[in-house]
Amino acid sequence: MSRNSAVVGINWGDEGKGRMVDLLTAGHDVVVRYQGGGNAGHTVVNEYGKFSLHLIPSGIFRKGVVNVLGSGVALDPENLCREIEELRSRGVEVSPDNLMISERASLLMPWHRDLDALEEERLGSAKYGSTKQGIAPFYSDKYQKKTLMAGEIRYPEEFRSRLASLTEWKDLVLEGVYGARGYTLEDIGEWAARWCEPLKPFIRDTGAWLEQADAEGKRLLFEAQLGALRDIDQGIYPYTTSSNTLAAYAPVGAGCPSVDPGEVIGVVKAYSTCVGEGPFVCELKGEAGEELRRQGAEYGAKTGRPRRVGPYDAVATREGVRLQGADCIALTKLDVLSYLKSIPVCVAYRVGDEVTERFPFPVELEGAEPVLEELPGWGCDISSVRSFDELPKEARDYVLFVEKSAGCPVKYVSVGPERDSIIVRQ
Ligand code: GDP
Repeated sequence: MSRNSAVVGINWGDEGKGRMVDLLTAGHDVVVRYQGGGNAGHTVVNEYGKFSLHLIPSGIFRKGVVNVLGSGVALDPENLCREIEELRSRGVEVSPDNLMISERASLLMPWHRDLDALEEERLGSAKYGSTKQGIAPFYSDKYQKKTLMAGEIRYPEEFRSRLASLTEWKDLVLEGVYGARGYTLEDIGEWAARWCEPLKPFIRDTGAWLEQADAEGKRLLFEAQLGALRDIDQGIYPYTTSSNTLAAYAPVGAGCPSVDPGEVIGVVKAYSTCVGEGPFVCELKGEAGEELRRQGAEYGAKTGRPRRVGPYDAVATREGVRLQGADCIALTKLDVLSYLKSIPVCVAYRVGDEVTERFPFPVELEGAEPVLEELPGWGCDISSVRSFDELPKEARDYVLFVEKSAGCPVKYVSVGPERDSIIVRQ
């Protein structure tokens, strides 16, 4: 088994990956983000306080850990500069010694955010529920080969000329399609000077650096954004994100395709949450849903939007475990369920006349209904428990139910947001 690890989401995102990465960086030398962008909101609570990290890997708080933004990331210079400033102002070191940006990461431009908002507005009630961080327009442009790589900042003449042709092309869309205001080359030049120039010292050939680090026996941790069901190729399309959230993609998006991602740790929340539109079969509405949302403080880390909530979904979790090729599960927020006398869980879906444990094709998901069962609650505070055997029997049984229904061993059980609120099963 490789020394490396990938911490990935099994469901719709917001499973608590940031919290797990913050914990697991203790045993790693490098943390790499390999996809997604500033639409992430990885929450970390540690000795520096509470943080919501958007682009910077969650290893930034550990001395000696190098954090890398890989080539697959949507590099939003404005977002990144602000995040660096915020971390520094709160006493966290951020320098080219502990943060590196791939020279191959493409730049998210101001027009990507504009286009995201304009398209959501055009769609009206059919909108996707985008975080409006420009991620979908960014990845579309990347695959149209109409973005700039971070490394191009180092070549001012070529950079300026490519900026000019991209600005001209983008204005055709902004003005011609949406009737919005375009950008002048001067606007964009100022934007680049303000937000791209300060990033220059961080930009390097991180792919070669990562391969070398792996060869030297350093331990790499691949940090994913969002969850398996949001993967562009395998998820609940079109209610996916625009990148690959799967562990199989981690070495590619990190920029070191030949490196083994190692142990795949799939993060699963003890109940379900989902941000944005699209099918969410086990959604709990009404008062019961309100209470779960309140108990779990389920409001988007980036947008503050109330998250949709529901019981643990065995069908979706099994699919996520399969897609991620998870070796083990980190089950988070078990403490949140302590208020329930009896805990509903979704064990199958009803699709038309059929009851199935198979995760359906996205179109069938729209009309699917959950088949629920009830498990006994434990009815006491478990947030100070640190060993599996000390958990109440009902809580242990709940964990064992997750393990069996997901078909994957639960190695970690998180009972609070703090770094040490964790049970490691041997
Ligand atoms: P991520 O995007 O996957 O990193 O997840 P988020 O940060 O969006 O959501 C996880 C939220 O749950 C954060 O507010 C965490 O501080 C919090 N959290 C993580 N694990 C636990 C846990 O075991 N118990 C409780 N009560 N909160 C947790």
